[in-house]
Amino acid sequence: MSGTPADAMAACRAAFAEGRTRPLAWRLAQLDGLERLLVREGRALVDAVVADLGRAATEVRLTEVASVQREVATLRRGLPRWVRDERVRTPLVLHPARSWIRREPLGVVGIVGPWNYPVNLLLVPLAAAVAAGNAAVLKPSEEAPATSALLAERLGHYLDPSTVAVCEGGPSATEALVDAGPDHLFFTGSPRVGGLVGARAAARLVPTTLELGGKSPAVVDRSADVASAGLRIAWGKLLNAGQSCIAPDYVLVDDARAGELLEALVGAVRRLYGPDPWRSADYGRIVSDRHVDRLAGLLDGHGGRVVVGGEVDRVTRYVAPTVVVDPDPAAPLLQEEIFGPILPVVRVRDADEAAAWIRRRPDPLALYVFGEDRAVLDRLLATTRSGGVCWNTTMHQFASPSLPFGGIGGSGIGAYHGRHGVERLSQLRPVLHKGRRLDLPLAYPPYPAWKGRLLTTALELPSRLRVARRPAGGPPSVPTPQ
Ligand code: NAD
Repeated sequence: MSGTPADAMAACRAAFAEGRTRPLAWRLAQLDGLERLLVREGRALVDAVVADLGRAATEVRLTEVASVQREVATLRRGLPRWVRDERVRTPLVLHPARSWIRREPLGVVGIVGPWNYPVNLLLVPLAAAVAAGNAAVLKPSEEAPATSALLAERLGHYLDPSTVAVCEGGPSATEALVDAGPDHLFFTGSPRVGGLVGARAAARLVPTTLELGGKSPAVVDRSADVASAGLRIAWGKLLNAGQSCIAPDYVLVDDARAGELLEALVGAVRRLYGPDPWRSADYGRIVSDRHVDRLAGLLDGHGGRVVVGGEVDRVTRYVAPTVVVDPDPAAPLLQEEIFGPILPVVRVRDADEAAAWIRRRPDPLALYVFGEDRAVLDRLLATTRSGGVCWNTTMHQFASPSLPFGGIGGSGIGAYHGRHGVERLSQLRPVLHKGRRLDLPLAYPPYPAWKGRLLTTALELPSRLRVARRPAGGPPSVPTPQ
């Protein structure tokens, strides 16, 4: 199904209203369809992403095909258990009664994707949407045109075309999709556009999941295995030429280990992409001239020292793996999301100074902590906020379907992957069934004084007893955070 977002939304809404998407069998069939798509069109999908982004085919296969297959397999395995009615306790005063929670589909989910992982970030939300029993209208990014066209053409051959539609286009297609009033909008993209789209959705009371970006720090403590930290930070930063929402954006390193870390980073760049990364078949390119110019701008006037890289070739859209030490904290390099292969390294006194630095900035999507000292990890967890955390690695939190993936504050609203995606795109609908055998007249009017006293005493007694047992005094004393 294609056409305008409004047409697609109307058709999907009609199919949803017929109850087509609710049965478990339909949901599992859609997940089967997605799996078939990934197997039969895997090659074509990889070629499309390579054509759009100039990435290494192996990297694309891992991040765009294999990881979506793993997600679909997890959903198929868990779904029958996750969507069963959940019996919950009913308070004694309501007895005789029983209560349960039913997971209901929301309706039609609008899914807007970015260009940087154009298959994964469209199909994983789609898998969650259909697993939860929803219809879906997808809007791929216009900046990955080959992938967008392929999905628009092929998806309907594998999934129920009356309930899943793709509408291609740019910002105006997103706006039309929001205006068509989906029951939920699942948006992945930049914080700036997320704010605009979120505001438009809020004006129409369309609930949203916003998967955004930001500056994700890597903290290298003095207890770290610096060689391993350097390799894992460089790998996470340079995957897809730094164009990943959870790429380590910058490094905060304990001053005592800064020299070693710089050596490790330079060594890691050579190990991963050889002496001339321009010639490496595994090193990606920047998506557009606009982004090459933006990155070249970040390399101008940062006030730091380039220890490796720095070259930009606009013709081939190449930006070298680049490490910049001691940049000016006020420079755009340390203010804006970099979204490219440039890694600023900032020295700090210790992990506490790193935490203070992170707290002064918008909440990041990821926090990467390198160190062998568990107490340092716990202190950073207690004194900062981030969407997710990796200890002694980067990027891998995205690859586990058991972990909720999403941001907090400026880096997003809501999380998904595996069961968390199904929960996010379901309504938890409570049902209470009251037996008829015992129907005490106490709760019904009229309320003479004796009834009021009896009722309030019965309902308030447990709290009154608990308060009476506690020592009198002011606010409770709480331990001060360390
Ligand atoms: P983007 O915000 O420019 O575009 C995302 C989508 O919004 C695209 O489909 C685009 O067509 C649409 N869009 C763009 N401008 C719009 C407007 N004015 N009104 C309505 N719709 C508009 O993001 P991008 O450049 O495609 O992706 C890069 C950004 O996405 C980075 O900030 C990155 O951190 C973030 N990102 C986040 C995640 C995540 O999972 N949290 C994943 C990938 C990328």
